[in-house]
Amino acid sequence: KTITAEAIRQSVKDENVKFLRLMFTDVNGIIKNVEVPISQLEKVLNNKIAFDGSSIDGFVRIEESDMRLYPDFNSWLLFPWGNEHGKVARLICSVHKSDGTPFAGDPRNNLIRVIDKMKAAGFSDFNIGPEPEFFLFKLDENGQPTTKLNDKGSYFDFAPLDLGENCRRDIVLELEKMGFEVEASHHEVAPGQHEIDFKYTDALQAADNIQTFKLVVKSIARQYNLYATFMPKPLQGINGSGMHINMSLFKDDKTNVFFDENGEDQLSTTSKHFLAGLLEHARGLTAINNPTVNSYKRLVPGFEAPVYIAWSGTNRSPLIRVPQSRGLGTRLELRSVDPTANPYLAIAAILEAGLDGIGNGLTPEDAIDRNIYRMQDDERKANHIQDLPSTLHNALKALAADPVVKGALGPHLYQSFKDSKDLEWAAYRQSVSEWERDQYLELY
Ligand code: ADP
Ligand code: MG
Ligand code: MG
Ligand code: MG
Ligand code: MG
Repeated sequence: KTITAEAIRQSVKDENVKFLRLMFTDVNGIIKNVEVPISQLEKVLNNKIAFDGSSIDGFVRIEESDMRLYPDFNSWLLFPWGNEHGKVARLICSVHKSDGTPFAGDPRNNLIRVIDKMKAAGFSDFNIGPEPEFFLFKLDENGQPTTKLNDKGSYFDFAPLDLGENCRRDIVLELEKMGFEVEASHHEVAPGQHEIDFKYTDALQAADNIQTFKLVVKSIARQYNLYATFMPKPLQGINGSGMHINMSLFKDDKTNVFFDENGEDQLSTTSKHFLAGLLEHARGLTAINNPTVNSYKRLVPGFEAPVYIAWSGTNRSPLIRVPQSRGLGTRLELRSVDPTANPYLAIAAILEAGLDGIGNGLTPEDAIDRNIYRMQDDERKANHIQDLPSTLHNALKALAADPVVKGALGPHLYQSFKDSKDLEWAAYRQSVSEWERDQYLELY
């Protein structure tokens, strides 16, 4: 896909585009928008749109406050929900410093840097197929989100139990209008919970897609008087929302190097090295893939989310699953990631971990095809099964101890990520919850 400036000018005329929304993502994965009227088109196309970076999380250093947005023309996309005045189009941008060099604190630039490293190692694409899950909650009479569910449906249920179905169908239609190839959408296991899977694409586009996806889901839900949340564990006692990441490495744009017709289980040695890299860095990756306090309420036994570091080709519940599909569909599925992860950081870190496995020729431990949750502690120990960090605090310590994952972020992003998350943990530590009062107030 190569869209030129001329094609964009043409599209603006043909489609009566009146506003341009320039999007980028901060260190916490939050989408930032700068909207400009179409009169600014030439400035946009020539990287002339400036903004004050010191007001963005993770961009904080004052001496770097004069930033510029460099649009990626390939991300040109018309939002289907324009109004009578004309349409809104968006461009995803990279953030550059005023001297034109890429800004190291921009998660998207950083992902591009890690992808370039992958290319230098001889691969053409890191393909990513995400499976984001979300809840649809009712809005109250003031339009504020509640945690009231709008249905009692469960996995693959049909209407009338699944009242969110119309909303979900509309989301899928909008996504298709925007060029997404939606492979499946279904009600998830928990009431009010949904999943929409779109076809895998290369890492950069996949990260862009995840960000666009969240925007679309939230806007369409609003039209149904529902609130869509990607919070990992909004309700206690039922499954949380994950975002499984399916991945494979391609060479020459079309050869899946994880597949080997003659390999054991038709998996290549490269895929095994990559898998070993993911296992080796599983603890270090956790803070990036599960970056909120709430993420760790999902990573508990009994709710289909992984807790232990292991892989399997048959079992659906381990941290890493190797789905049965072979040929082009040969892939690894990392099941810990949740939708609060900054997709640019998560994909960069996952790729770096896998490349480290390849670079160092790491071999994975044997697959664990038994139910890990039913094992005793000493049995897990005998099988070299470690657990994932159980809190954001422990995950941050594991990240600090993993130079490879830290390297995937680079010093600037690592520092801003750490600063932001240290604050989050400190605030959480000081909070006293309802659970604690219920537990202790009268007992002691
Ligand atoms: P699950 O069985 O875990 O529910 P889904 O069918 O919901 O899996 O999603 C599978 C995802 O894997 C889709 O996004 C799909 O496009 C993606 N996928 C398929 N082949 C590849 C591949 N070679 N590399 C990366 N992702 C892939
Ligand atoms: Mg799925
Ligand atoms: Mg499926
Ligand atoms: Mg699911
Ligand atoms: Mg899955």
